Amino acid sequence: MIKVAKFGGSSVSNCNQLRKIKAIVEADNDRKIIVTSALGKDDQFQAKITDLLFLLYAHLEYGIDYSYLLKQISERYLQIKRELQLTYDIEAEMKELQKILNKDIPKDFLVSRGEYFTARLLAEFLGFTFVDATKLVILNYDGSVNYEATTTKLQDTMKQFDHIVVPGFYAVTPDDKIRLFSRGGSDLTGSILAKAIEADLYENWTDVNGIYAADPKIVFNPKRIEKITYNELREMSYRGANVLHQESVIPLEKLEIPIRIKNTNDPQDSGTLISKSFEESDDLITGIAGQTNFTSFNITKSSSKPITMVLKDVLNLFIRYKLNIEHIPTGIDSFSVITKTDSIKEMYFDIINEIRQIDGVIDLSLEDDISLLAIVGRNMSHIPGVAGKIFSTLGRNKINIKIIAQASTEISIIIGVSNKDYEAAVTVLYEEFY
Ligand code: ASP
Repeated sequence: MIKVAKFGGSSVSNCNQLRKIKAIVEADNDRKIIVTSALGKDDQFQAKITDLLFLLYAHLEYGIDYSYLLKQISERYLQIKRELQLTYDIEAEMKELQKILNKDIPKDFLVSRGEYFTARLLAEFLGFTFVDATKLVILNYDGSVNYEATTTKLQDTMKQFDHIVVPGFYAVTPDDKIRLFSRGGSDLTGSILAKAIEADLYENWTDVNGIYAADPKIVFNPKRIEKITYNELREMSYRGANVLHQESVIPLEKLEIPIRIKNTNDPQDSGTLISKSFEESDDLITGIAGQTNFTSFNITKSSSKPITMVLKDVLNLFIRYKLNIEHIPTGIDSFSVITKTDSIKEMYFDIINEIRQIDGVIDLSLEDDISLLAIVGRNMSHIPGVAGKIFSTLGRNKINIKIIAQASTEISIIIGVSNKDYEAAVTVLYEEFY
């Protein structure tokens, strides 16, 4: 059996955490491929190493003195080396890095050092072999993963070594350059390696007991979700539940490799299991997720123009501006296009002007401060009355619904409310369903 175990930044933030990892890894010989993030925050250090490295790069770019940052970064690694009595010559590697610290250093290379140094120290501490991500996670020119090459490399590696530690968050391009994934991307490294080796399980170790049925910052002590399907998780992550990188399930879906979210600080807890499907459960819904700050472009069209024509022109405009569309509720002579407010900040007035000029548009109004909530659950599709329950709950609590949408898969119902009602809406819905 092979398990890929990925440990997030908070799991590797100091010696104490590394000791917990050692105990976890030693408790199960199947945990053969360990992926690590860079050192995260802890009580003593309020910054993630990755953030500091991005900041260091910005200092180099603008020619600002960066010595205080470098000191802060290296001190954290050196402290771990000292306390755990490791021998890896991180001082020499840091010196080499320092020699090439100038504005021409590739940003991705510099930032990847966070994961690289962490993996070096962790490998020695665990007594496992360090294998760099540049030797394993291979990209195509277009940035997609070259699974053929990655699989061959990983299989060859596992023939030589029983247990390995791999830095997460970066991969190598065909022309040998380091490329970072998006933030939180060590989760992706874990998924990619789990797929390449056809792992039995991908464990994602973090600092919470799994995925919660609602945001714990809003709902007090929400229920931990025991089991969730890939699709439900994608809905929840897309809508703001961010325990796992949104794209992590994609590589695993086809081979149906399950993911288990586990808490490094509470390893006995069973966490959340993510898989393709599960036997029926009694829960009507699986979870509630949501995000604030969306803008709705409310467009009225002339009754003589077919809606498809006007909609096509408006959508082309959004494509040209590379904007994500969250929803498009439509009526007979009107429709709305909903997008993240942040994403339109720069081109707000340009878009308004251009929409107004589209043939057939007779009116445009904008509405900001919208929150979108997703009520997610695989069981909703065959149980009538869920929507009714949502509406009556919100109605009873005097929360006005601005948008209602349900995809044909019936795996989620999306509700738009005003930002000011967002937290109340999540709370009353949670109370109603649990
Ligand atoms: N260290 C990177 C970040 O902070 C990647 C990761 O932790 O997954 O985004």
